[in-house]
Amino acid sequence: MLELKQLTVHFQTPHGMVQAVRGVSLQIEEGETLAIVGESGSGKSVAVQSVMRLLPKNSSVSGEILWRGKNLMLLTEKEMQGIRGGEIGMVFQDPMTALNPTMKIGDQIAEALIRHKKFSVNQAKGLAVELLEKVGIPDPRRRADSYPHEYSGGMRQRAVIAIAIACSPRLLIADEPTTALDVTIQAQILELIKELQQQMGMGVLLITHDLAVVHEAADKVAVMYAGRVIEFGNVKDVLQYPAHPYTRGLLNSKPKPGDRSALVPIPGNPPDLLHPPVGCSFASRCPYAMRICAEHNPPVFKTDRQETSCWLLHPQREGRQPWNSYSYGT
Ligand code: SF4
Ligand code: MG
Repeated sequence: MLELKQLTVHFQTPHGMVQAVRGVSLQIEEGETLAIVGESGSGKSVAVQSVMRLLPKNSSVSGEILWRGKNLMLLTEKEMQGIRGGEIGMVFQDPMTALNPTMKIGDQIAEALIRHKKFSVNQAKGLAVELLEKVGIPDPRRRADSYPHEYSGGMRQRAVIAIAIACSPRLLIADEPTTALDVTIQAQILELIKELQQQMGMGVLLITHDLAVVHEAADKVAVMYAGRVIEFGNVKDVLQYPAHPYTRGLLNSKPKPGDRSALVPIPGNPPDLLHPPVGCSFASRCPYAMRICAEHNPPVFKTDRQETSCWLLHPQREGRQPWNSYSYGT
């Protein structure tokens, strides 16, 4: 449904060129949930913003972004507006930035339907109430006449989701949709996205820095580090048998429920993407780094379970994947 081929995004800055996304290839099928996980600055948001063509002017994008066979990079802005909010819905971290503070919630949902589906005003307003009900807003008829500031944070994110799904998109892109919310509300919003996905059969591209969210909500996961995908596979495989030392580090740094002492952060910092290293980007932090790691960026190695960019997975290396399995979330 959506395919990124060697996506590369550079930003021109006063300090030089920042290589934010460096050759990302990914695919998401109809109806599945792909999570992209990584620290802030790993390029995950930039990658999806380039899909929506929402990047600032100082950016340059190369590679291909194929949406149901069409290269989105070649569409006019007008054609792109039809895809944004029509075929692809979007939910961002802060619901307040997605909502117009001076417009009633119901009218904002109706607007999406009028713009993309050419509904009449009355039809659109009626459907807006139904959509508010669908995303779990109590007393939706009355609540449609409220302004965003009259909603709680969790309700606002529900309203944003209502706008995003109003036109029955084939794909919902959700960038850190729960990060700004309380923990209990986070779980409810994830649950809502899952329910809607099942009802509507849409695909979901979920951006998160939180492995618990990946575990809860996704079928497949792509782990990003320093602008590249370093591991990709089914969630159950990658979380149970992480092969890349960075993925293992992320899993180690995740406290087990109730056990704060288990937190083991990965020492060091990601590389400066103004001057990314020639070899493996993780080499300066990797406990397994070998000489080849500093000299050559590892290609993708496929195993039975996943795809991993790490020299430890080289088929001629003795003791490939020498680690124990993890029991994540069980
Ligand atoms: Fe570590 Fe080398 Fe693998 Fe990079 S390629 S993660 S430095 S072992
Ligand atoms: Mg982000």
